[in-house]
Amino acid sequence: MVSCELISAFVGVAGGGGAEDGAPGGRPPAAALSGTGDPVRRDRPCLRGINHPVMMLSPEGAWLVGLTGAGLRLGPLPGADGCEEVTPVLRDSFGRVATDLRVSLTDRCNLRCSYCMPPEGLDWLPKPELLTADEIVRLVTIGVERLGITEVRYTGGEPLLRRELVDIVARTAGLRPAPQVSLTTNGIGLARLAEPLAAAGLHRVNVSLDTLDRETFVRLAHRDRLADVLEGLAAADAAGLRPVKVNTVLMRGVNDHEAVALLRHCLERGYEQRFIEQMPLDAQHGWRRENMITADEILGSLREAFDLTADDPVERGSAPAELFLVDGGPARVGVIGSVTRPFCGACDRVRLTADGQIRNCLFATEESDLRAAMRSGADDDELAGRWLAAVRGKKAGHGIDDPSFLQPSRPMSAIGG
Ligand code: SAM
Ligand code: SF4
Repeated sequence: MVSCELISAFVGVAGGGGAEDGAPGGRPPAAALSGTGDPVRRDRPCLRGINHPVMMLSPEGAWLVGLTGAGLRLGPLPGADGCEEVTPVLRDSFGRVATDLRVSLTDRCNLRCSYCMPPEGLDWLPKPELLTADEIVRLVTIGVERLGITEVRYTGGEPLLRRELVDIVARTAGLRPAPQVSLTTNGIGLARLAEPLAAAGLHRVNVSLDTLDRETFVRLAHRDRLADVLEGLAAADAAGLRPVKVNTVLMRGVNDHEAVALLRHCLERGYEQRFIEQMPLDAQHGWRRENMITADEILGSLREAFDLTADDPVERGSAPAELFLVDGGPARVGVIGSVTRPFCGACDRVRLTADGQIRNCLFATEESDLRAAMRSGADDDELAGRWLAAVRGKKAGHGIDDPSFLQPSRPMSAIGG
């Protein structure tokens, strides 16, 4: 169930223009939309039922932007006067506000996808360096209650390997305002865990599936586990963790001939397929641009079998996937062109690694160590302050095309994909 949805209700306060039924009487000033205003969050009784009201102050006036339960209709909102508590949001120097928190629960994995890590695995983080379940929940709580995080995605490594996962999900789902809680997983073990996770309050899952062919799976992931992944997907769907999204990375000469078959597999089962361009985030540093299957190539392959029309770009918002209606819809397919079609300008993500480092970008070269601060006695105010500072320093883009680009020293599995 969707508990929060970014609205679409921009209500003029000082600038005039009332609103009815969530349909604004006018658009907010450009400065507010572009984030050049000064966003703060104001919690006050008159805004009950609206999560994270955000006050955007711009030279043209004050505007309220809120999050509302799906389907809730908004009327005119009160003005700026009388707001007392001011809560900061995670805003960077380019005006982007991070609301989507990706949390890595472990760097370990039971697969060895070749675009991610070598067959022999990696030097895993020693256990004492991993955040405990209580430490994870404490930081997530600060993010949700004090810093405007509205979506929490657990990932890894392989998050299903974390024994306390169901408990962590339940405690996250119990926070107020309630965040969207989702999981990115390779699906191994989901057959057993889908029901308990749904009962704990998990909303939905992304499951990685790169091939439908057993031999190709073994070649790609170095483990014979395709059947477990397919079983996990079916269990997620049966448990209502929908929409079940399927993530696929295509690799030249390995599985790039399977784009059509994979999409067909998803369409037949009501899953949403997402193809992701391979990024330079493998532990082996083996990524080569010429080997990457580009978004254009993916779309070219799919168009040989399907009629694809671009879906409403407004709906994409900050989502990385460009969405296309398949054969007129309503089924859709997403293509995530992280390298050739970067979406950094609309990015709303921030990441927490399994060892408690805040990263403002997958490709960041710097981290902020909340674990050390927490373990040396920092209170919530200090942790929130460090987190705000870490996001403030986010760069404009990942710079993969820049000659000075340096692949981050941590691989995707350690950062949390
Ligand atoms: N183990 C889980 C899984 O595979 O879904 C979660 C972690 S994994 C790092 C998260 C996502 O990152 C997966 O969909 C995976 O395919 C993707 N991924 C890993 N390495 C990648 C790379 N080098 N480029 C693009 N996507 C990558
Ligand atoms: Fe494991 Fe996910 Fe990396 Fe594959 S992509 S090796 S499943 S962490």
